Amino acid sequence: MGASNSPSYHVVIVGAGIAGLSASIALTLKGHKVTIIERTLALQNIGSVLLIPPQVSRLLDSYGVFTRLVEKDMVRDGLDWLRYADGSVLGKTDFTWQKGVYGYPTLAAPRAEYQSVLYERALELGINIRLGCKIEGIDQGSPSLTLIGGEVIMADLIVGADGVRSKTRAAVLGEDFEPIRGDKSYLCRADGAAMRADPLTAPLMEAGILRSWWGPGRHLIALPLRREDLYDMIAVFDEAYEGKPETPLHTNWNTKGDVDHLRKAFADYDPRLRRALDYVPADECRLWNILSLPDLPTWVSPSGNVVILGDAAHAMRPYLAQGAAMAVEDGAVLAECLSRAEKVDEIIKAMKAYESIRKLRAEKLKNASEESGVEKHLPDGEQQRQRDEHMKMVMNTLLTKIPAKGEKNMHPMHWIMGHDVVGHANVELDKVFGTK
Ligand SMILES: Cc1cc2nc3c(=O)[nH]c(=O)nc-3n(C[C@H](O)[C@H](O)[C@H](O)COP(=O)(O)OP(=O)(O)OC[C@H]3O[C@@H](n4cnc5c(N)ncnc54)[C@H](O)[C@@H]3O)c2cc1C
Repeated sequence: MGASNSPSYHVVIVGAGIAGLSASIALTLKGHKVTIIERTLALQNIGSVLLIPPQVSRLLDSYGVFTRLVEKDMVRDGLDWLRYADGSVLGKTDFTWQKGVYGYPTLAAPRAEYQSVLYERALELGINIRLGCKIEGIDQGSPSLTLIGGEVIMADLIVGADGVRSKTRAAVLGEDFEPIRGDKSYLCRADGAAMRADPLTAPLMEAGILRSWWGPGRHLIALPLRREDLYDMIAVFDEAYEGKPETPLHTNWNTKGDVDHLRKAFADYDPRLRRALDYVPADECRLWNILSLPDLPTWVSPSGNVVILGDAAHAMRPYLAQGAAMAVEDGAVLAECLSRAEKVDEIIKAMKAYESIRKLRAEKLKNASEESGVEKHLPDGEQQRQRDEHMKMVMNTLLTKIPAKGEKNMHPMHWIMGHDVVGHANVELDKVFGTK
């Protein structure tokens, strides 16, 4: 028996990214036995900064991880939305306000550090993480997983957390879906010391503020990394934008970007940002194809014993910075659902509940993300002026006070940040399984 007298199942998770590791912790804390299969030999020190929104900070706190992230200096004051040409402030997201309203702020986490904090916690909980293991195939019926070399691993449940190019997805769907290519991104880092020595860029390094410059067809989000003395920048280009970079068919974290092209692409932006781009060494600029998925017919195999989560299920364009957040939410809900299955035969019912709770929200977020991209990348004109007016209204009214108890929270992102992931899952699960 696992925690709270529910059965303990053997769960095999494919992939030790944010999705796989966070799900492994949630499942272990519920009393399940978890094995992770990861193809890389060691965790990769890759990726840019991920925002961890309040509803996920709360989950991570229940996993014993939030304080460790805070100790790694991931707390910031807020995020300023800026007009591209002159850097004037269009709106603000105040992380202190979020803390007052939701109990937790948004954190800004370098992906590699975030992953390694989850990894350490998983090891501490005794989770078996097998690095350097590649999958030959998955039999959704048994269910079992065969590694290259022939080893067969049996499980009660197999969870595909193997990213946008998931192999597990084909075992769930019977066929695979090719990810959608389109948007492009540059991930780059400027020299912090040089930025601080320059009066034009020094203010960008000082404040605990992230900044996002919105302009026609592309935007750029940036923040100072205090521990590494770098200025981290992510530039995102819309698929339809003519000046987007050319990319090879497949990119990885080592695909070199053309820093001169990046500078040219932002030549009509805020002078502070242009100067910051001057401080990016050529070898600190990477190019990245942004991949997303269409809404999939299902996330659960016919047997109910293989499921997908994270980018494997709902890779999305990054305009609301919620892809990894949805992955962590998936894992938390998966753990709640599995623990409602009192015997192996009920796992299928529990996994169908997982899909019905999660799919709608993740896909709604994916669509909202698309819309947000259109809004951020508007060309100058009437629509852009209306957007800017609306931003000011939100900034000057909704974000000036913390709603009183019982007062409706009108923040446009409240449905995301104010979501009680575990509470909502249990309300839905009570409808399927009866009250706990
Ligand atoms: C530019 C950009 C900015 C973003 N910003 C944010 C943000 O601010 N906030 C946010 O929440 N999200 C953000 N995202 C989205 C976020 O990065 C992803 O949603 C998230 O990292 C996905 O995590 P994952 O664990 O599902 O997949 P991955 O990180 O891809 O991990 C998959 C893991 O599975 C392993 N694997 C793959 N195949 C196999 C196999 N066959 N066998 C064994 N192991 C395998 C891989 O090696 C890897 O370790 C951003 C994305 C982009 C592109």
